[in-house]
Amino acid sequence: MRELSKRTEDFTDSVIRRMTRISNRYNAVNLSQGFPDFDPPKEMLDALKKATDGDFHQYSITWGAKNFREALAKKQSKFMGIDINPEENIVVTCGSTEAMMAAMMSVVDEGDKVVVFSPFYENYGADAILSGAKPIYVSLNPPTFSFDRKELEDAFKQGAKALILCNPSNPSGKVFTLDELMYIASLAEKYDAYVITDEVYEHIVYKPNKHIYFASLPGMFNRTISCSSLSKTYSITGWRLGYVIASKEVIEVVKKVHDFLTVGAAAPLQEAAVVGLEFEDKYYEDLAKDYEAKRELFVGGLDKLGIKHTNPQGAYYVLVDISEFGYESDLDFCEKMCERVGVAAVPCSCFFKTEENRYIRFHFAKKEETLKEALKRLEKMKELMKK
Ligand code: GLN
Repeated sequence: MRELSKRTEDFTDSVIRRMTRISNRYNAVNLSQGFPDFDPPKEMLDALKKATDGDFHQYSITWGAKNFREALAKKQSKFMGIDINPEENIVVTCGSTEAMMAAMMSVVDEGDKVVVFSPFYENYGADAILSGAKPIYVSLNPPTFSFDRKELEDAFKQGAKALILCNPSNPSGKVFTLDELMYIASLAEKYDAYVITDEVYEHIVYKPNKHIYFASLPGMFNRTISCSSLSKTYSITGWRLGYVIASKEVIEVVKKVHDFLTVGAAAPLQEAAVVGLEFEDKYYEDLAKDYEAKRELFVGGLDKLGIKHTNPQGAYYVLVDISEFGYESDLDFCEKMCERVGVAAVPCSCFFKTEENRYIRFHFAKKEETLKEALKRLEKMKELMKK
């Protein structure tokens, strides 16, 4: 048989999703792949039941059902502080995974360079390969995940056409400051580059940190392709509802790419999600508070156990330093931890461009009882994970 495509040779399956399968095998508490084990808002579940009895079983408009786009435009205009037109500035996608892929394919050609902060969300590596982009990695240096401004400018100097900005950031939990974002904006302007954002954790930010939408910075709307989703905000990761927001000119291209990639997001799910997009501000305030409590519980619990970790400013991940255990492979460590301790984490080597074997990632988007059970099991981590 002839060989299959070369472009698929350079990446593996997702380590994040592989860890879920390993976790299931050992019946571990799964704090690897980031998704909640609690219910979405009841109003959305009720709306979904109604939608399945309604007339929503055929394709919606390819770039999103009109009422979904209108509700989304209203919500995002308010939070982003930008006037978003539902007809001109939005494409609804199958999760932000498709949004990012469609954004990349709309912006870059084979061989174009794209700046990626490392550690990065695993998908960006594959997105770059599939779209033909050549990533230039710039370090976010642990434990604070600050970056070197000169290193970033040097990356732009190499002719980067775009930068990928995950903010709040997965896996680091970093929330970029206004000062940092303004600096990135100045480089985007100076080197005539686009910024593709991944803002799926836009509503999960811990005080006093504040999420600033890159597209809202002066002069940045036309340079920014904002990608996000409803997955984390409404605890509906399985609904696969994401979107791209950008200028009319960019959206015209994203619409074409999206049309041929997936045609459209699921119609009944878009219909059911409208009620969520129309929630009052209190919903988002409560969401942030709930996650603040989860962070206190889990990260505070790690402190009590004397387990060293990073301090998330946003999103729902915490990195734990495992260097004291002396394992050569963090993947091996995570597999053994599922088996011996019964808690699953993601080995962070899949997020770093540099050889990095020091961190594992836990997420805390789980019920209180699940997090308590995980912490109980982690009491024995130091003893059970000795080599
Ligand atoms: N964003 C989540 C994570 O980082 C889930 C990833 C996924 O499987 N789509 O774990």
